[in-house]
Parts: sequence; C-alpha cells; structure tokens
Amino acid sequence: MKFVTSPFFKIVFFIIVLQLKLTAQIKREIEFPDVTGYHTLISDLHQHTVFSDGSVWPDIRVKEAIFDGLDVISLTEHLEYQPHNKDIPHLNRNRSYQLAKEYAKNKDIIIIHGAEITRDLPPGHCNALFINDANKLVQKNYINTFREAKKQGAFIFWNHPNWIGQNKQGITQLSPIHEALIKEGLLHGIEVTNENSFADRALTIANEQGLTILGNSDIHGLIDWLFDIPGGGHRPVTLVFAKEHSEMGVKDALFDGRTVAWYQNNLIGQEKYLIPLIKSSLSVDTAYYQMYGNKKTQIADVVISNHSDATYLVNNESNFSFYNTTDIVQLNPHTITTLSIKTIDPLSSFELKFEILNAIYAKNKHPKIRLEILIEP
Ligand code: ZN
Repeated sequence: MKFVTSPFFKIVFFIIVLQLKLTAQIKREIEFPDVTGYHTLISDLHQHTVFSDGSVWPDIRVKEAIFDGLDVISLTEHLEYQPHNKDIPHLNRNRSYQLAKEYAKNKDIIIIHGAEITRDLPPGHCNALFINDANKLVQKNYINTFREAKKQGAFIFWNHPNWIGQNKQGITQLSPIHEALIKEGLLHGIEVTNENSFADRALTIANEQGLTILGNSDIHGLIDWLFDIPGGGHRPVTLVFAKEHSEMGVKDALFDGRTVAWYQNNLIGQEKYLIPLIKSSLSVDTAYYQMYGNKKTQIADVVISNHSDATYLVNNESNFSFYNTTDIVQLNPHTITTLSIKTIDPLSSFELKFEILNAIYAKNKHPKIRLEILIEP
C-alpha cells in the first residue's frame, strides 16, 4: 500500500476532501416548490442591524439573504430601543431600509420597509411592514404608533409572543389589549416561531383569531453562527404564497394569511396551505411490481421524489404494510425514495395515505395526504 502513503495520494485525497467540503457548503439556498396558483416566496421578515441592536451593517443582511436563496426580507429595527445610538447616531429611522434597498438594487431580492414597535407586554414587540416613514412611528403612546402604521398601510404582527424576556413561563397569552388591536385592524399576524423558539399557544391564537402565521430569524448576529448553516441548519422563514412575485404580491398574501412557517425542519401553518405545499413537494415518479428471477412478485416498488428542502417524516396510514421499512418513513430533501409495498393481491392501482409528522396545523394535529399509485403494466 505504498501508493496510499505517497505524497501524490495525500494531495489527491486532500483535493477530494476539499471538493466535498465546498460542495457541501454550496447548497444552502432554501428551496420549496410553487403550489397551484401561487409562487412560493421565501421570506425572513424580522431582522436587525447596527441601526438598532444588531451587530452588522444592512448590506450583510442582504448578502446573507441572497446566499440563503430568500426572495423577501425586512430589516425591522427597534423604534424604541437604540443601544448603538451613541456610536452610530442617526436621526433618520428609515436609514437601515434605505441602505439595504440601495445595496439590493439590480439584485433578485425584495426589501420591505419595516420597523419593530418595542413595548412592554402587552402589546409587547410587533413588526410593522410596508410602512413609508418609520420616523412617524416614534410616538409616546403605543396606540398612536399602531394607528400611524395602519395609516401607512402596514401589515402588523406580534413578535415572539412566548418570549421569556417578557413572560417567564414562555406561554403566549392574548390580552384584552391584543384583542382590541385585532378588533381595530391594528394586528394582523403572529410569529409562531422566532429564532430558536416555538410558540404552540401562538398557533392556537392564530387559528382562533384568524391571524397570519409567521416564522422569522430575528437575527442580530450572523445567520451562519446562530443557525449552523455550514452544519446543515436553516434559519426560520415564512413561506409566502403570492399571486405575483412582487412586494404587492407579498403584501396581498400576508393580509390574506397565505403562509407556512418553516422552523427546524417543521412546517407550521393552516392545513389548507400545508397540504398543497406537501403535495407539490412529493411526486410519485413510477411504480412497478418487483421481479424475483423471472417471476413477478406482489411487492410494488413505489418511487417517490421529494422536491423540497424539508425532510418529510411520514407515518403510514395506508391499508398496506411495507416490505423494506417500518411504518415511519423519512423522505429526504431533493432525493428519491423507494417504498416496497405488500399489496397481497396484484393491483393496477391503489392509494397510499400518510400522516406528515413534521408538519403541524394545530396542537398535536398533523396533515394527512393521499397518493394515487398507478402500477406500470
Ligand atoms: Zn426583533
């Protein structure tokens, strides 16, 4: 085995390892397919820079978002919390947006003008998107801030409603103030996931109050460090189902509640949006009976492609059991999986039914999909 220890082999080996590492790093763009009638736009609508309490300049946020394949972002600086003000004085609260917008010129990314209303709970922290002047949102009384945002046409959502910084138990509680905001058309959405937390009660509140479901990074430092992107992690994002790929398309979708949050490989949203997303993610490429020698068996091989970034964890609820696996199956992202089905009788078609365990539309509720299988003659 002299060759193995030779300097030439070591160099070749080093190059192969480096190539593999580079390949592993290249694929970081978040990818989900469009669903019937809508573009699936990937958004992160809650981020910070040095213009409030973040650690980076706005162009870095745009660059990170482009690396991650995002379609839409918003830099939502705290209106009432400006810890870097002495080092970076700025009277214009629109500056972060302006710099990001300037940097994103001629780049394929939509920058939405936003700001974070930063108050004690209730109402807590809320992001106002699609504003035209953040300076006018700096008001003494919170209600005037919300009303000014509404006047500017803002979509407003409640941030990290489970945040232990404001609520020791980490439980989301809808207060009479929130109810009044919703009633007056001043609160339209809620984060069910923020950074590294999941707010189960927020999902219930979204369903009960008809609030749009969102998931965002709330990044202050670097995306790569917080979400371990080199290790295969992803930032929380909101998948927006937009009629058109534009700022207006995003606004229309958010007000209409057409979203699914993606968080630590979990899809969180209304059942009516989860099912089309899962169905467009998974396709049955082919199905045929296995041969044993020259004899056709009654084991049907069903080849399923996953066209999305999600690792689908599915529970078999079909009338059949599998020859090659248990009833829990993992469908890896951008990968083909073959399931061998014991159909007992020779069939020309049958149905597979799966519960999607990594998707949730209410407490302990996972959507179910049916796949129609046609056996090749
Ligand atoms: Zn924030």
